[in-house]
Amino acid sequence: MTFRFYFDGIKIDRAAHLRRDSDWSGAHAGTSETRIVPIWRDQSLVMAGAQPQAVFVDAGNAQALCDAASCTVFLGLDNGVAYYAIDLSNHEDPTQLPLPAGSMFEDLRKLASNLDQVEAGKLAYGRALAFWHRTHQFCGVCGSATKPGKGGHERVCLNEACGKHHFPRTDPAVIMLVTHPDGDKCLLGRNKRFQGLRFSTLAGFVEPGETLEQAVRREVYEESGIVTIDETYQASQPWPFPASIMLGFRARAVTTEIDCIDEELVEAKWCTRDEVRAMSNTDNVLPPPAYSISRWLIDSWLNEG
Ligand SMILES: [Zn+2]
Repeated sequence: MTFRFYFDGIKIDRAAHLRRDSDWSGAHAGTSETRIVPIWRDQSLVMAGAQPQAVFVDAGNAQALCDAASCTVFLGLDNGVAYYAIDLSNHEDPTQLPLPAGSMFEDLRKLASNLDQVEAGKLAYGRALAFWHRTHQFCGVCGSATKPGKGGHERVCLNEACGKHHFPRTDPAVIMLVTHPDGDKCLLGRNKRFQGLRFSTLAGFVEPGETLEQAVRREVYEESGIVTIDETYQASQPWPFPASIMLGFRARAVTTEIDCIDEELVEAKWCTRDEVRAMSNTDNVLPPPAYSISRWLIDSWLNEG
């Protein structure tokens, strides 16, 4: 299987029907048929090195780690093995925990495409849920404490008069490659948050009450002053940093004059395929290959010409 971009390749049966079963929602964690995905303050456990590897803790150390965790989430099944994410953020010093020798916590984004894609998918999934539990300890309706339910896929308000069920959040963001009315150029922008000269596709969060297509049109206009039509969905990328999904679009411009209205972009410009290819040959001017849906959108367009 080939992957289009990072986190494209999670291979797990989420087995949602087992989340209601208390045998699966935590009690199995730590037995020989389980693997543990430890998370510490948004970092994932890896064996570091030139070729870093995700660490899935098996029977030997699993029970002690589960006992030390503030939260356990049933992720699902892979080849009959149950995967659980556990959150160890309640420990100040993770080196004091019974972790496998040579392992360390690292930010998943820093590992970039060095990590196996299938393994990276499981780490991203576990990281997202651990973050959600850590930041939803209290009910948004009444302010009372909440507790995990359904194998860690919901939190329930402990105030009986309220009893609200809360579910994990995923915030949609659109990311789009805009083509010139003549078709031979695409619109790239340099965000003020980017390091160096890195140019990328435009992107932004979907707002309440708008369609994805409207979000594409609005974001492109706000960031570049360009008016688009024919917004067409291409692909999506989970982006749990901390809780997004990137929805990739292609859109056609009907205007050409650039005006970075909301100042989110330092600069935006129309680039020919030759200019984009030339950028690819220099450091730091495009998103890294094999990593982002942004680069995949750009490469897909390059391959058409
Ligand atoms: Zn409540």
